[in-house]
Amino acid sequence: MPRGWSRRSRCTRAAAAGPEGRGGDEECRWRAHAGVDKAAGDVYEVIVVRHGTRRARRSEVFLNYAQYGEPDGDFVVDYYLWVLRSQSTTVLVDTGFARGPAEARGRTVLVEPAEAYRSLGVDITRPHPLVVTHAHYDHIGNVGLFPRSPVVVSGAEIDFWTSPMATKALIAHFTESDEVAALARADAEGRLRRFSGSVEVAPGVVVTEVGGHTPGQSMVTVPTSEGVVLLTSDVVHFTEELERDMPFVAVTDLPAMYRGLQSVRDLVAARAVDHVLTGHDAGVLDRLEPYRPDLTGIAGVIGRLPA
Ligand SMILES: [Zn+2]
Repeated sequence: MPRGWSRRSRCTRAAAAGPEGRGGDEECRWRAHAGVDKAAGDVYEVIVVRHGTRRARRSEVFLNYAQYGEPDGDFVVDYYLWVLRSQSTTVLVDTGFARGPAEARGRTVLVEPAEAYRSLGVDITRPHPLVVTHAHYDHIGNVGLFPRSPVVVSGAEIDFWTSPMATKALIAHFTESDEVAALARADAEGRLRRFSGSVEVAPGVVVTEVGGHTPGQSMVTVPTSEGVVLLTSDVVHFTEELERDMPFVAVTDLPAMYRGLQSVRDLVAARAVDHVLTGHDAGVLDRLEPYRPDLTGIAGVIGRLPA
């Protein structure tokens, strides 16, 4: 993330509304639209857990890389899940991959997500809201750890992955059937919360459907003491993808993916977000404070809550 993309907003609720309810300035109207300034007092710490990694080539991660006429090269891909905590609420954003499917694809497991949750003090028996940004194997591998959680997912996403189209070879390999079945089970149990557009899953935490990478690929905005954090998940895999408009190799709707990248650039330009955390950049934790010294390189934090 470029340093310039990490900044504080000066917006207040009054600024968003404008004098006498008219106007306000553009930055603040954007933030109000995104739902990120209305929950004054509700701030979260964003814990970024790096649970896996792999060494790839640029031609394996950027779509149609040969079109750019650039040399190939090594490219490190890291794998993350996110935990949001306020004084009263915990929200889980994705659950990382499971060891078997990850190792079958040549990924390296750095920490088992179940162990990471334990280490962070996340009580998996409680019904914390669980946001599924999309249903690829590296984002829903441990949904079964949370048997009581409401699962928030775009309707377009769950409908696609439970449809016959999702069994096609070039589509199915992004998922594990038992992991998609865990989402279907949550649905059968009445725990699946479908949405379209945007939904607020906890005070101030807004999930927005973007599409592109998958039919219902979503991203999340979170108010923190250090400003608004945008978790792009796989709307943006890498900062280079965002800055150079170079879509990731896996895509279901390319124009929607380009529009998703533009929507993130628009949010940044409008100063509606203060920090952008991508889905798979390497080195994200190098720029964050470790959550605890023993978790250096595994878990970092933005907006740490007072102890
Ligand atoms: Zn991913």
